[in-house]
Amino acid sequence: MSFIPKKHFGQHFLNDPVIAQKIVNCLTNNASDKVLEIGPGKGALTKFLIKKRSKIKLIEIDQDAITILQKKFPKTEIINTDFLKLDLSSIGWNKYVIIGNFPYNISTQILFRILENRDNIVEVVGMFQKEVGDRICSSNNSKKYGIPSVLLQAFFKCEKLFDVSPEKFEPIPKVNSSVIKLTRNNTTDLGCNYVKFEQIVKMCFSQRRKKIKNALKNFINLVDSDAEGLSSKRAEQLTVSEFIDLTNAILKIQNEFSTNKRVSRNNQSTH
Ligand code: SAH
Repeated sequence: MSFIPKKHFGQHFLNDPVIAQKIVNCLTNNASDKVLEIGPGKGALTKFLIKKRSKIKLIEIDQDAITILQKKFPKTEIINTDFLKLDLSSIGWNKYVIIGNFPYNISTQILFRILENRDNIVEVVGMFQKEVGDRICSSNNSKKYGIPSVLLQAFFKCEKLFDVSPEKFEPIPKVNSSVIKLTRNNTTDLGCNYVKFEQIVKMCFSQRRKKIKNALKNFINLVDSDAEGLSSKRAEQLTVSEFIDLTNAILKIQNEFSTNKRVSRNNQSTH
């Protein structure tokens, strides 16, 4: 059956079985036996995955690809949906692995879904656009270090495994690709409020060339505060644990501020 790849679904099919096998082999043997594959397409990775794992669910948005998958893998569960709209608690698994040659047009959103569901995801082996992979894995003091690096590295060990050149795909993409592995670390409690942490990391990097105290000046005054030292640096200089310290320092200032307001309001009402 002829299959015309759909650009709007980010379809670039892996055409080299050696690479497909190599990607599947990157799954850790004793990580969970349950694997979720995002965007299986025509089954380049699935073919090797079914030899390695018994519990597999495929999530594919394209009905034409599903027709092919059903013929090739009649015993494998296929969920026909948009991964970004799928409520992952509905799949009925609690600790699982994710694999995929991800559609690059939604790779950042996939990463945020992974973060949201981090306590059930033990490992991710995924193909990303090289630039995105470099951002995920880079350390502080690098130009590539940014929001995904900090948020993901707070909960995952992030490693680049290898690059894959464009001609290994059909159709050939305009970008280079890299296979990345994320391994969940032991952190369940960051040591600060996560929602606040994410908000502060995003605000700091939104003006990454400014010192943090200037980038955040419309939000909070950090001059002469416990966070003065950290906030005199730029976002890309801070390690994950320094972002946690910064978040806690900001929370402390906000708490003191609201307590003071409460006290002064109480004082006013007693006079
Ligand atoms: N894994 C296959 C295909 C990669 S192309 C291979 O290596 O050959 C990316 C795949 O993701 C396509 O099959 C595309 O249809 C699917 N896809 C795109 N957006 C999706 C989404 N939102 N949810 C689920 N699958 C999606």
